[in-house]
Amino acid sequence: MSEGGGKIERRRIALAIGAHPDDVEISCAGTLRLLAGKGFEIHVATMTLGDCGSKDHSANEIQRIRRSEAESACALLGAAYHYVGSHDFSIFHDDAHNRRVTALLREVSPQVVLTHPPSDYISDHEMTSVLVRNACFYAPAPNYDTSSVNHSPAIPAIPHLYYWDAVEGVDIYGRPVPPQMWIAIDDQIEFKSQMLACHRSQRDWLRAQHGMDEYIEAMRAWCGVRGREAAAMANRRIEYAEAFQQHLGHAYPHTNLLAEVLAENAVLRRPDAG
Ligand SMILES: [Zn+2]
Repeated sequence: MSEGGGKIERRRIALAIGAHPDDVEISCAGTLRLLAGKGFEIHVATMTLGDCGSKDHSANEIQRIRRSEAESACALLGAAYHYVGSHDFSIFHDDAHNRRVTALLREVSPQVVLTHPPSDYISDHEMTSVLVRNACFYAPAPNYDTSSVNHSPAIPAIPHLYYWDAVEGVDIYGRPVPPQMWIAIDDQIEFKSQMLACHRSQRDWLRAQHGMDEYIEAMRAWCGVRGREAAAMANRRIEYAEAFQQHLGHAYPHTNLLAEVLAENAVLRRPDAG
């Protein structure tokens, strides 16, 4: 309690967890910057250090390079960076991974958590999604033991959980997944591009592996697609947006905290919009 008798407001915290370095930047960097502008403390975690994301470097070398790229991107945002301790193509829904991700949730103690959607093009993304979903549920349960990872206590409640877009906005059958909510990021798109540009090695790797030369342009083009949808839904001028679905399963919070905090930027799908 403060001297005046009012409650001391705990600083609000958002945690974005991606499978690989750059997933968070591509999916929700604009939204994280907006949350930072509203006073949120921002944390970014990756399950791996992207050890398979290179044809030119050994796994050890590329991990070192990508960790420093992820840290540089987080420094731009003023965010804390965490590495969960897994490896590319080896993220599994197993006991060890569940305890590690839950320990991270307990260490950070966020009110808002963002991660990959349940259906996406690569198993690493899908496994991360289920591990984060589980960790949100497990972290408040005091008898779930994560002391092998750290000694952070159970968190007070299940946080608000949001899924960002699958790559290209489609599930594994190629079907579009309609967003529940868009966050307009017109004022953040240049910052988001700068954050993504920190991942120089991934830009080179995508050029070699996927023939995709326009790393940053592809991100901007996708935000443009979501921006046009948001503009049509809200009937106002929006050029760029990031899209989300809230996890609304039993026991998870159902209030839309992201839409409340970012009210000027949030566009909700109209119930009649199909
Ligand atoms: Zn990824």
